Amino acid sequence: MPSYWERKAQILRKPLADRKKGLGRPNGEIRLASLIEESIVDGPGLRFVLFTQGCPHRCPGCHNPQTHLPIGGTLISVEEILAIYDKHPACRGITLSGGEPFMHAGSLAKVAAAVHRRGGDVVTYTGYRLGQLTNLAKTDDGTLALLSETDLLIDGPFVLEMRCLEQPFVGSSNQRLIALSLAGNRLLDDIPILPEGPTIGRISYE
Ligand code: SF4
Repeated sequence: MPSYWERKAQILRKPLADRKKGLGRPNGEIRLASLIEESIVDGPGLRFVLFTQGCPHRCPGCHNPQTHLPIGGTLISVEEILAIYDKHPACRGITLSGGEPFMHAGSLAKVAAAVHRRGGDVVTYTGYRLGQLTNLAKTDDGTLALLSETDLLIDGPFVLEMRCLEQPFVGSSNQRLIALSLAGNRLLDDIPILPEGPTIGRISYE
């Protein structure tokens, strides 16, 4: 039987598209590294947080290296996630973190849409830049759907040399807080931005 490191090397040698095939199931299950039912450190207000399994960025100094492999974690359905979410009506909304949430974009978009129907808002972290995602969205329906269901995008890889401990909700000052909707603008209004902190953007489609 191949060792853990041999299996990891085999997976990392595969193109990303092939790796993505192994991440979910036809019924849209999501591979989660962990889930926090109520958090105050992953976006404004009390939030329900999903940490997805699998990340292609491999940022040096990453705080969640256990999320990098596209295997491991736990498979969970959209319905199971929503059943847990519904037990926490005090949550303002959901935060999608990782790992790289856009490796599970189609299924997470369904979760996010359901949270919106319940009156919640959606914060999505990504190691990609918004421009990369909008390019990808031209050909990938899941990416388009998750971008469309995201109110506040926190984008960019973690850069160790630019680590930022004082600014809430970002790991390094190259990361940007970008409102993609009116709800995203309201989320931004609730975040204190340090003068030397990250770039903020307000791109409203509403
Ligand atoms: S994008 Fe996030 S989870 Fe992925 S390697 Fe970078 S810091 Fe870690």
